Amino acid sequence: MRNGRRLSDQWADAVVVRPRTGEHHLAVHRRLVLAFALSILTLIVVTTVAVLLSVRSEDCNATQGSTAAGGAGRSNGSRGDRVDEDEAHQPWKRSRLPGTLRPRHYDLDLSVHMENFTFNGDVSVELECLNATRYIVLHADRLDVTSVSVSSDSSTSRRSGGGLLRLHRHFLFPYNQMLVVVLHRELRPIRAYRLNVSFQGVIEDELLGFYRSSYTLERERRYLAVTQFSPTHARKAFPCFDEPSFKASFSLTLRHSAHFLSLSNMPPDGRTPDDRTPDDRTPADRTSDREALDGENGWVTVRFARTPRMSTYFLAWSVCDFSFIETHSGSGVKIRLYARPDAISSGAGDYALHITRRLLGFYQDYFQVQYSLPKLDLLAVPKHPYAAMENWGLSVFVEQKILLDQDEASASYRMELTMVVVHEICHQWFGDLVTPVWWEDVWLKEGFAHYFEYVGTDFLFPKWNMEKQRFLTDVLHEVMLLDGLSSSHPISQEVAQAADIDRVFDWIAYKKGAALIRMLAHVMGQNLFQRGLNDYLTTHMYSNAARVDLWNKLSEALRWAGRQVDVQQMMEGWTLQMGYPVVTVSKTDPPHLPIGYVSISQEHFLYAQEVGAGNSSLQWQVPLTVALGNSSSISSEHLIWIHNKTETHLIGPMDGDTWLLGNINQTGYFRVNYDLDNWKLLTQQLLTNHQIISIGNRAGLIDDAFNLARAGLLPQGVALQLIGYLPVESDFLPWHAASRALYQLDKLLDRTEDYTLFSDYVLKQVASRYHKMGWPSNAPSNTPSNTPSNNRSVMKASYQTEELQREVVMLACSFGNKHCHRQAVSHISDWISSNKNRIPPNVRDIVYCTAVSLMDEDVWEFLWMKFHSSNAVSEKKVLLEALTCSDSSFLLSRLLNLSLSSELVPEQDLIDVIIHVGRNPHGRELAWTFFRDKWEVLNARYGEALFMNSKLIGGVTEFLNTPKELEQLKEFIQASGAGAGPALQRALEIVEGNVRWLRLHHHQFYQWLRKAPDANMASDYAGR
Ligand SMILES: [Zn+2]
Repeated sequence: MRNGRRLSDQWADAVVVRPRTGEHHLAVHRRLVLAFALSILTLIVVTTVAVLLSVRSEDCNATQGSTAAGGAGRSNGSRGDRVDEDEAHQPWKRSRLPGTLRPRHYDLDLSVHMENFTFNGDVSVELECLNATRYIVLHADRLDVTSVSVSSDSSTSRRSGGGLLRLHRHFLFPYNQMLVVVLHRELRPIRAYRLNVSFQGVIEDELLGFYRSSYTLERERRYLAVTQFSPTHARKAFPCFDEPSFKASFSLTLRHSAHFLSLSNMPPDGRTPDDRTPDDRTPADRTSDREALDGENGWVTVRFARTPRMSTYFLAWSVCDFSFIETHSGSGVKIRLYARPDAISSGAGDYALHITRRLLGFYQDYFQVQYSLPKLDLLAVPKHPYAAMENWGLSVFVEQKILLDQDEASASYRMELTMVVVHEICHQWFGDLVTPVWWEDVWLKEGFAHYFEYVGTDFLFPKWNMEKQRFLTDVLHEVMLLDGLSSSHPISQEVAQAADIDRVFDWIAYKKGAALIRMLAHVMGQNLFQRGLNDYLTTHMYSNAARVDLWNKLSEALRWAGRQVDVQQMMEGWTLQMGYPVVTVSKTDPPHLPIGYVSISQEHFLYAQEVGAGNSSLQWQVPLTVALGNSSSISSEHLIWIHNKTETHLIGPMDGDTWLLGNINQTGYFRVNYDLDNWKLLTQQLLTNHQIISIGNRAGLIDDAFNLARAGLLPQGVALQLIGYLPVESDFLPWHAASRALYQLDKLLDRTEDYTLFSDYVLKQVASRYHKMGWPSNAPSNTPSNTPSNNRSVMKASYQTEELQREVVMLACSFGNKHCHRQAVSHISDWISSNKNRIPPNVRDIVYCTAVSLMDEDVWEFLWMKFHSSNAVSEKKVLLEALTCSDSSFLLSRLLNLSLSSELVPEQDLIDVIIHVGRNPHGRELAWTFFRDKWEVLNARYGEALFMNSKLIGGVTEFLNTPKELEQLKEFIQASGAGAGPALQRALEIVEGNVRWLRLHHHQFYQWLRKAPDANMASDYAGR
């Protein structure tokens, strides 16, 4: 599963930091508490009724049998069962399923009524009894259970009625989303049984379980229905054992109107016309009259082939009227991409289909494990709670992450889309074939899929250099921002309540998971890492595995090569402890170190360290790589393991000009600090010949320096001085790292008095590169858009150059370069006057935003109109975000209100609108007020999908930085009743940090800018 997010967004939207104490028991969703209260009440009523009923039916219960068991709580038990000591155990009261029974196979028949968005179904589960029990406890949520029966003969067809067992009662227990069946007699170990349940439900409007969505084609509204079961929503579509370790096979049969087609994990065995009325439950295998299909309201029955053993959460189906395009992988897997007919005919699916075909081959080679199913469908839906979901054989994507209009899409849109596809295909192995035992280790699948986004994209486009470069800024630097908060949490975290499960899908799981896996891959070396993964996948295929299983396989691979590294011992420090260390390497402290020696110490890195928030007991096994360099060369790296708080190591001969560099290419998940003398030597090196230091290390030095300064561990001037070499930097990544740091500072400073000191400084750094590179050339208008993507691949050699050009233009325009502003204005004027958009897609967001902020209201109206008329999903998003750049509070308010109340703005985009208004200094207060005023509406709308809610909270609050705003946030947390919410807790810590930085450091920061060390700069600023 992948969250959809722009790469440039700074603070993660997904991170919901869990309280580290037992507080989470208090944090249970209020609705659940209410549900619990209600269920207790129901239980009391039900038990009373049951007791009364069983007393009355005392004389006739023997003849009733299990078939009489009806709705929830109805009892047909005998008096002897009424007060049963076993019920004292009440296994449904526990949040996890009891391990007494295991499902082996599900036969699931569903009739889908698209005309009124309901479904009814029968599920028949073959169960294996492991321990004697009278209770069958499984999951069911929001379902109306109409009948339940249990038979002793698992092989008997569920409709034959053979071997029925007498039921005591069955009931729903909503608090734990469970269905409980109580039997008269115990089920016996080793024997197999069959549970049959009939049920009905609603195809929801919410994006969970089995839900509906729609699109417009030729002014006609058309509907589709699709599932989203991860992590805990399969239970909303059929009663099932909805925990990942209860793997079983599934045979699905769908009945629906012949106007639609249906898809599932497996290919259909057959589609037969069907003349039965939907409620007629005669045997499904009866061959119907072929002519029935010809009728206007004909129904069809589609039976899908039996799946391999799998978890419930990646079972999937869809009923829709889409078209498809098709290809085959090298090994003969049929790959199809399904989407709206107009998207298919315009070629918007071609690119994703093409890369998927290549990726299947890549992963099969890399893992040395074949793809397991005969087909793979990619389904593009208009609405989805995440970017995509990796259902085995039927991966579902939101349109913006899989459809690509060749002429409209920017390079970053294409890159994001590519990575989402790479991610989901990786899950076909990591997640679907081998599944984490429980959600506490969700990072085992998400960390891998996220890491492979970079490895797999490198395979597709080697020149992008994703794993070596882009990974640093987009994953490592980003997650270290979050994991440096004291409200962070360990990557493996306890998950007790159902409500906690959504919370584990956060950036810590995804990005820290990926960063730790990358660190381990580099420590092991590529070949051994691959060997270990292959062993892990083949040993645990069609089953589950825990992190220890992975550590064991990786240790074995190392032992095979004669290396004795206990991977478990090494990795537990990184996975069971929160945060990460800052490693300080010093030649001068303590004084009088023997020649060639350095002291190396490790300490828990926290932004609030300066106010004593660090946890001094935390310690890691740190694989620190170091190299020595001077003005003309750098030594090869060597690895030092750091186990203790402070160690002394022999590094080699160092004279006064020798600098030392740690964490080579930033493969390690930690920061490195040095003595000030070493920082000075490194800074001088960058100024005189920066290419001695690798691109990755240049970006790493910039990120470390700015963050160490933010935490008060380094003087502010050291970081600013370090980027003094940027005018000569011609590679994208160091610029990207610097601009991330500068935007972060910009948002802290943009309402301070001396702001222009800062913006002038940035413009000075950018000017020469901006003039050297200029703007990208105009987009060709009227290029045929249906050219096959594989022939006109945009993956040009100049990709890095294009990205750098974009970065520099963005910096220039946003910090106020006049030439840049004129260019943007002329681009928009050209569009308005010619009604042809010739603006290069790569800079459209910059042009639109700049024009909206500089030009009058007509431009805003023009883009608003274009937003409505555009059909290209990527373009729509860019236009909407540009509307948030206005200086006018009137327009911003209008946009916020329209986004909330009208259907004009898609529901999932409202959050982005609010956040982007908040990034605009003219809109910050407006967005913050709007957020608080509308909190109840917003929370009701997005509260269920925690991902969205925490993205909203994080986005709206991250740049609040005045003591007044901090007070307002505290008041809001108090008053909103959501005080214990982890996203709010995190927001509070970030805002406190902002306020603290401004109080402690911003004077020092401006002071440095006022007497900037560069002679040119000093004279430039002399007159101010
Ligand atoms: Zn995923």
